Amino acid sequence: MMQTKISRRVVVKGGLIATALVPAIRLMHNAALAASLTPLDPNDPTAKSLGFVTETAKVDASANPTHKPTQKCNTCAQYQGKVGDATAACNIFVGHSVPASGWCKVWAQKPGI
Ligand code: SF4
Repeated sequence: MMQTKISRRVVVKGGLIATALVPAIRLMHNAALAASLTPLDPNDPTAKSLGFVTETAKVDASANPTHKPTQKCNTCAQYQGKVGDATAACNIFVGHSVPASGWCKVWAQKPGI
């Protein structure tokens, strides 16, 4: 029976390569995911029922008295983008992207911002 020895160097090298590739693969996956999303239409029935707007400055203050201008999608716990992303996925509106400057009634402060 043939026996193959794997050196510690080979194992460490493989681990380092895998560690380097995971973020790159994740970035490619996120870019592909973002490209497959369609921008959320404010006239979508669900979006409308949640008061979604593409610009937080356009929120109807009389209908949303607790809204503050600093509340935007990019500071919301449901926003899947990073700081600086113009648009990103939202956990509430699956399959759609929302603009960083948008807002809806589900807004809740993202922890750590
Ligand atoms: S849930 Fe948050 S991220 Fe999604 S549309 Fe509403 S405010 Fe924007």
